[in-house]
Amino acid sequence: MSLDPRQSAQTLLSARKVTKTFGSLTALDAVDLDVTRGEVLCIIGPSGSGKSTLLRCLNQIERFDRGAIWIDEELVGYRQDGDTLYELDDRAIARQRLACGMVFQRFNLFNHMTALQNVMEGPVTVLKRPRQEVRQEAIALLQRVGLSDKHDAYPAQLSGGQQQRVAIARALAMKPKLMLFDEPTSALDPELVGEVLTVMRDLAASGMTMIVVTHELGFAREVADRVIFMDGGRIVETGAPDQVLGEPSEQRTRDFIAAVL
Ligand code: ADP
Ligand code: MG
Repeated sequence: MSLDPRQSAQTLLSARKVTKTFGSLTALDAVDLDVTRGEVLCIIGPSGSGKSTLLRCLNQIERFDRGAIWIDEELVGYRQDGDTLYELDDRAIARQRLACGMVFQRFNLFNHMTALQNVMEGPVTVLKRPRQEVRQEAIALLQRVGLSDKHDAYPAQLSGGQQQRVAIARALAMKPKLMLFDEPTSALDPELVGEVLTVMRDLAASGMTMIVVTHELGFAREVADRVIFMDGGRIVETGAPDQVLGEPSEQRTRDFIAAVL
């Protein structure tokens, strides 16, 4: 299976007919998606619509049943119908995991490590990079997310917003090609949402390619280049933020936006 010839080198990620079932439930129903380099894509949709499953398939945390995914023109995931699985070698899957930085709703920090150790852990243990060099980068990353004074703090000593900013720094430390965010502010107290969105806004402005599942429609409107509405494991509507959020063409999108606002 080759990459769609219409695609340009500007395409960083392509997914074709990605399908994922859990028993009789189709969580993702032949999803097609293209993301351009530097694009910020926000995904909205009701609970259970398949948003997390999509991110998890893109990151190979979840094995999909059928379909194909390319990142940076490399075929990194391909499965065919039925029992015949065209497994990619583990190295391709490992590369795909490394290509995608992931930030979850729950911060998932290592609780026995300081903020600085959390950010250094991946580059040192997974990438086997020299500790001293990684340390300098980790210090710069903590500065970038506004936590220069928190190097030695453990997660329990940080607010939820601070923990999530460490989680973003930790993902960036792996130098991913794109960042996946799964409702990064949903678990935060309302007064802590802004500081995380500010970091994400800066990241977007720096040119990072981002896929963000969020209910923060204001953020989506302001920062996204494109908004996708998912329902029932499908992409129901996609377009510019003003169109999808302001004048949705699908009734399901209108109903969802009315419910969220
Ligand atoms: P969203 O993130 O949009 O809320 P999810 O991707 O988490 O939706 O879930 C999509 C559907 O798949 C839901 O119906 C959910 O219950 C189901 N699902 C997700 N993960 C699993 C799993 N590990 N086992 C069984 N069903 C799952
Ligand atoms: Mg989810």
